Amino acid sequence: MFVYMDHTATTPTSPEVLNAMMPYFSENFGNPSSVYSFSRKSRAAIEKARAQVANALNADTSEIYFTGSGTEADNWALKGTLEKAKIAGKNHLITTKIEHHAILHTAEYLHKVEGVDVTYLPVDSEGFVKVEDVENAITDKTALVSVMFANNEVGTIEPIAEIGALCRAKKIPFHTDAVQAAAHLNIDVKAMNIDMLSMSAHKMYGPKGVGALFLRKGMRPENFVHGGAQEKGHRASTENIAGIVGFGEAMEILKSRLDDDLKINSARRDKLISGILAKIPHAKLNGATGDKRLPNNINFSFIGVEGETLLLDLDAKGISASTGSACSSESLDPSHVLLALGLKHEMAHGSLRFTIGRLTDDSQIDYVLDVLPEIVSRRREMSPLWEDYLKSKGEK
Ligand code: PLP
Repeated sequence: MFVYMDHTATTPTSPEVLNAMMPYFSENFGNPSSVYSFSRKSRAAIEKARAQVANALNADTSEIYFTGSGTEADNWALKGTLEKAKIAGKNHLITTKIEHHAILHTAEYLHKVEGVDVTYLPVDSEGFVKVEDVENAITDKTALVSVMFANNEVGTIEPIAEIGALCRAKKIPFHTDAVQAAAHLNIDVKAMNIDMLSMSAHKMYGPKGVGALFLRKGMRPENFVHGGAQEKGHRASTENIAGIVGFGEAMEILKSRLDDDLKINSARRDKLISGILAKIPHAKLNGATGDKRLPNNINFSFIGVEGETLLLDLDAKGISASTGSACSSESLDPSHVLLALGLKHEMAHGSLRFTIGRLTDDSQIDYVLDVLPEIVSRRREMSPLWEDYLKSKGEK
């Protein structure tokens, strides 16, 4: 049985999306910047996609700028805003300890190269940022607040509308990385007072290599990619037309089924969570519960077992999952997100993330619940850490 439970890492491009993209590879290949009528088809396709993305967020079409990825949108928002603010003497960025590396590494770069002061807000044990912590961190030098909409490792959904209202009242630009959230939640940028928002198509059954930055009217960060006059002069390079068309289509489809998917995924998520808690002793659910958690995220720590070991055992049973840490394949560091939630190093190493989606069905949930308890138990029997843990609890 092949079970793909890593929808947060990426999703397959859906057949409808691929169909919509196909004509823009070799049939309607015209450069949108050219003046002849043949190129109008490319221009029109981009503008249709812009409207599809804007509609899904309750944004205006003119407020959507296509980028090469979610990472680029994050880089643009942070670097562009801080560079612009420097002229006005503002050099303070507020973000959180649990952001994706697209934000964290950009913030580190801004500190190192541009001398930007960065405040990394803490989170509580479920991963929530406190609105009053945001308020207390604001100074007269603050140029930007950037708080992710929902966390990619543990699924916690942040109080974005409240932070948006606070920033609007204080007249401080507010950016949110919604690369994961936009694939699962209803987002209204106007009602939530969001000034800038990053997205990525490949998390929502669209193609890889295309993202977008929502820039509320009046937001004008410095450009990030310099060159030609594409995207109204704000993001250079010849457009990835097929990718952009796929993004628009993916977003429209996503929006049309979002409420149903939310219900189905949440029910499957809760079945997997309660099944693991019932079948595996000393399993710790990481992150929040109920509607404060992304509907597709299941993240556990199993004391005594390394997450990587579990991944290999699951892979041998046909199950693709993740340790939750964005760079788990390249780094043996424990997850910065789990450490920020207060987990000890050994628990942060032992985490396992399943993220469900359109490729998931009920039989797969049952299959994981069948094989996982045996895998964890076998690995624990070989683990000195597990033995020590049981002794410390008086269970051995
Ligand atoms: N931000 C978050 C929260 C993510 O989960 C990811 C990807 O996993 C990114 C940013 C980067 O997006 P992209 O893969 O489009 O560069």
